[in-house]
Amino acid sequence: MAGASVKVAVRVRPFNARETSQDAKCVVSMQGNTTSIINPKQGKDAPKSFTFDYSYWSHTSAEDPQFASQQQVYRDIGEEMLLHAFEGYNVCIFAYGQTGAGKSYTMMGRQEPGQQGIVPQLCEDLFSRVNKNQSAQLSYSVEVSYMEIYCERVRDLLNPKSRGALRVREHPILGPYVQDLSKLAVTSYADIADLMDCGNKEGANINKSLTTLGKVISALADLQSKKRKSDFIPYRDSVLTWLLKENLGGNSRTAMIAALSPADINYEETLSTLRYADRTKQIRCNAVINEDPNA
Ligand code: ADP
Repeated sequence: MAGASVKVAVRVRPFNARETSQDAKCVVSMQGNTTSIINPKQGKDAPKSFTFDYSYWSHTSAEDPQFASQQQVYRDIGEEMLLHAFEGYNVCIFAYGQTGAGKSYTMMGRQEPGQQGIVPQLCEDLFSRVNKNQSAQLSYSVEVSYMEIYCERVRDLLNPKSRGALRVREHPILGPYVQDLSKLAVTSYADIADLMDCGNKEGANINKSLTTLGKVISALADLQSKKRKSDFIPYRDSVLTWLLKENLGGNSRTAMIAALSPADINYEETLSTLRYADRTKQIRCNAVINEDPNA
């Protein structure tokens, strides 16, 4: 497996109300691309340090020169991946981390100005580039799918009538996909936002998928570090990792953003997220430019 490695960023959020009321201590610090964490129970031990493509300090607010805004995260990661998509690559951006660490905030953000996450910013940028480049020689079509993996079953969030679970299948060239998942044509981010509003529900239970994601990342990182040619990667142990197969070590440009809680009470979980993020850096993907067979 040669090719580009998975781009890995970590981001630390502000204290939440509960942490503030419990007088939580911040155990995470960042310097340039390096993130360090101190064990609150062993304060005299040296901090553990990890270096990533980006270490985003979002623990404070915009007045802090070190502060990483939603726009900065988009410019570094979202825009790069969007440009790769225009070059013809498959791209994937995924967030990782414990519940409440800031995954949804980073990916979706909030409605208020300046608080939009990667997805709305990327979609707006996508359509503005499409509108600028469209010409007599060049046309674009954009389609959207939205699904949920709930207890290992795939549900189509854009087709509420499809009550049953959809099947995951594997195309010999294109890789795994969800059979019969709806794909709706859209022409603006407003279309996508409307579709997502219709599709949104209860929080998902994707525990098995997340455990297997951890195992797949470990197996891929081992594969890289031992320079072995082949090894068993348990992609098919969960629906999430099966569907992400090409994005993890296959035909894709992939970025991962690991969301970190700053608080001492979450030390163990945060350290584990940092270790997974550190291992993910070793995963290499062999992305190739897709050619449209009908062109
Ligand atoms: P997750 O999706 O990982 O469960 P959320 O994104 O819902 O976590 O974050 C938990 C809470 O913290 C939310 O209220 C969210 O708005 C807030 N939050 C997360 N990250 C940030 C950030 N970088 N800046 C400000 N608020 C944040």
